[in-house]
Amino acid sequence: DERVSLSLRIVPYGKNQRLLIARDITRMQRLEQMRRDFVANVSHELRTPLTVVAGYLEAMEEECRDRDEGMRRMVEAMQQQSERMRRIVEDLLMLARLETERVSDSPEPVSVPSMLAAICEDARRLSGEEAHRIELEAEAGLWLQGNDGELRSLFSNIVFNAVRYTPGGGEIRVRWFEDERGGVFEVADSGIGIAPHHISRLTERFYRVDVGRSRSRGGTGLGLAIVKHVLLRHGGRLEIESELGAGSIFRAILPTKRLAHVQQNQISDDV
Ligand code: ADP
Repeated sequence: DERVSLSLRIVPYGKNQRLLIARDITRMQRLEQMRRDFVANVSHELRTPLTVVAGYLEAMEEECRDRDEGMRRMVEAMQQQSERMRRIVEDLLMLARLETERVSDSPEPVSVPSMLAAICEDARRLSGEEAHRIELEAEAGLWLQGNDGELRSLFSNIVFNAVRYTPGGGEIRVRWFEDERGGVFEVADSGIGIAPHHISRLTERFYRVDVGRSRSRGGTGLGLAIVKHVLLRHGGRLEIESELGAGSIFRAILPTKRLAHVQQNQISDDV
């Protein structure tokens, strides 16, 4: 490949002049590409052995279920860890796809209200005995043009985080509506909150305020990096407001040109 990549910048120079600065970034871009390919390949290679290990663990678990309590507990611990590894690998693969795949020219209409209803159901399951109060308020008929899987990932990462970082019994409010900014997806929780100096770094891969807490709550450390990339690909942006010890608001704002207004009777005709 003989192509050369340049980064161009125009800066003021003297009184009425401008200076054009060109920098050769070919090598940097190649290295970046190699890094992405490497991560994608490693993740892909890890998938198969992980599936095999999980299969054997399941067989072992059945084998010692009613016979050897000590062994059963060890196998269960291994199952949890291999499940955790599987989630990390899946998130890494998703990130690699988001970074490299072209954005589709013909986005599909996605029913956000029904997608959010399903995600909130999953969140209640994740909450389990902790019994968070999870409320959903979504404007019926307000859909989005985009990629179904990517948007699902965007919404669910933010909702599941609210469950992860809110003590049991806490309140989580999920809203989807339109205002002058565009389509607004907002999740407000009454959780542990985030100190201001962490906020700008949360969308970095593996950046966590508290690694131990994130791990024990089933986080991969990649959720908000995925959120950032999905928003980039949909022309949206992320806003985070938080108060330590009081709670957080995560808001994804999507441009109006992405919105699709679907009439209720149209929906029932389709089903
Ligand atoms: P993780 O899998 O660790 O949750 P994320 O990328 O989704 O990774 O989030 C990064 C970090 O941001 C988390 O580890 C946590 O410290 C913080 N965080 C995310 N959402 C919330 C929230 N609703 N309340 C408090 N902290 C949060």
